Amino acid sequence: MEAPHKVIVVGGGITGLTAAYRLVTDAKRAGVQLEVKLLDAAERTGGVIGTSRRDGFVMEEGPDCFISTKPEALEICRELGIEDQVIGTSPTHRRSFIVRRNRLLEVPKGFYLLAPDSFLSLARTPIFSAAGKARMACDVLIKRKADDKDESLESFVVRRLGREALDRMAQPMVAGIYTADPAKLSLKATFPQFLEWEQEYGSIIRALWIRKKEQASSASASGARYSLFLSLRKGLQTLTDKLKASLPEGCVQTGVSVNQVSREGKGWQLETNKHPMSADALCLAIPANLAGGLLNKVSPNLSSELTGIEYHGAITANMVFRREDVDHPLNGMGFVVPAVERKNIIACSFSSVKFEGRAPGEFALLRAYIGGPGQQSLLGRDDTFIADLVERDLHAILGLQAKPMQTHISYSKNVMPQYHIGHLDRVERIERQLAQVPGLALAGNAYRGVGIPDCIRSATAAAAALSAFLDGSRQSE
Ligand SMILES: Cc1cc2nc3c(=O)[nH]c(=O)nc-3n(C[C@H](O)[C@H](O)[C@H](O)COP(=O)(O)OP(=O)(O)OC[C@H]3O[C@@H](n4cnc5c(N)ncnc54)[C@H](O)[C@@H]3O)c2cc1C
Repeated sequence: MEAPHKVIVVGGGITGLTAAYRLVTDAKRAGVQLEVKLLDAAERTGGVIGTSRRDGFVMEEGPDCFISTKPEALEICRELGIEDQVIGTSPTHRRSFIVRRNRLLEVPKGFYLLAPDSFLSLARTPIFSAAGKARMACDVLIKRKADDKDESLESFVVRRLGREALDRMAQPMVAGIYTADPAKLSLKATFPQFLEWEQEYGSIIRALWIRKKEQASSASASGARYSLFLSLRKGLQTLTDKLKASLPEGCVQTGVSVNQVSREGKGWQLETNKHPMSADALCLAIPANLAGGLLNKVSPNLSSELTGIEYHGAITANMVFRREDVDHPLNGMGFVVPAVERKNIIACSFSSVKFEGRAPGEFALLRAYIGGPGQQSLLGRDDTFIADLVERDLHAILGLQAKPMQTHISYSKNVMPQYHIGHLDRVERIERQLAQVPGLALAGNAYRGVGIPDCIRSATAAAAALSAFLDGSRQSE
């Protein structure tokens, strides 16, 4: 009997774990033998997803939720039998805030990331000045752009809604997701719907108003089952742990860093920090710039496209306070901080309010987020320095009466790909180059979406492509 085909997945974050899981389950379903190995340089799997559970606290070191409007994360929870652990945001305080001169102002109902869905919600909010509001309202009068070329978030928002809309709303809302410079961030790769709405309705405010009316009639008919943001009762690491546990014994090898890959004959050779390995097919589920480095001998063009994707790092600081030591009522899910406010943190989740069971009742658990173009040097600073910066910002915004009782700081370097203008063209070039390399798949947050559901979708597609490739090889053998 022929030896089974072997696939190596490099990277054990949500992307690599999902790719390995899909490869194993697809092979089982097709009734074919397949050996899958997953390698991760770190000592644990999960990548940036990590939950620290201690003394009754559930602290997220990386992401703290996934969105329900992209179904992939919820679907995989269902497949893995952990849907009963999915939790929505607490219904009592489903609001968030934006900082203005150290005050927390509520993001008004009816705002969708950058624009309002009616003049009433615009008129009522104290987030913008009267002149800023007047400029935003001009959106309904401004002509649509003549071409459909990509443009930056900054250029789009300033063109349609004005500078204040960018500085006070669009920049901070988007920074919390992409940790990006709005002057470079591709609108086509991140929020293509705004460009489409401009073309279709001639105005973003008009588009949001029409969509609100349409959604009101469909929502009353169906009734949403889940809130927009979801997590897992014991933290997001439950998902990556469950994926790992679903893989066959011996499949996952941690502490193995892949240093170079090459094509030999019909297969792949991998140089690692441990020993050489070979495989019939290879899935690189690591940051694109690192994948580019590994592929420089295999395809210099593909390698240079991949290494051209810039990355940023991020820091999260989980802090525990006695509830009475925080002056603010914490009656929301958290806040974002506009860059014009000149703080160090770009966002903060009120974790103990956002999701149930994150902290014992007498405590407030806050998770502050640092990241973005001007803050990359902070990744080299130590815990004491970062804790001090975060405490200073939280004190100015929330009013703290005491030092935190616990502080837990996590650094993630080279984790957030920057979707610069023209990103989708680059991804298409990458996909064309990739099609020339047999038995190779790329997956992760660098290509068509940075969120957890996007990574799961990307991994599923990579696994399907490799399963089809191996199927083809089996038939030609
Ligand atoms: C702080 C933070 C907060 C976020 N918040 C959210 C959120 O709330 N919701 C959401 O949907 N998304 C969020 N995201 C985005 C999302 O979490 C990530 O895009 C996603 O988890 C990335 O997963 P990944 O598996 O592709 O990459 P990673 O998690 O980065 O995993 C890559 C793995 O590859 C390994 N590796 C790298 N090089 C090698 C090598 N040469 N050999 C072997 N192994 C290697 C690394 O050790 C790592 O484990 C957040 C991201 C960050 C950083």
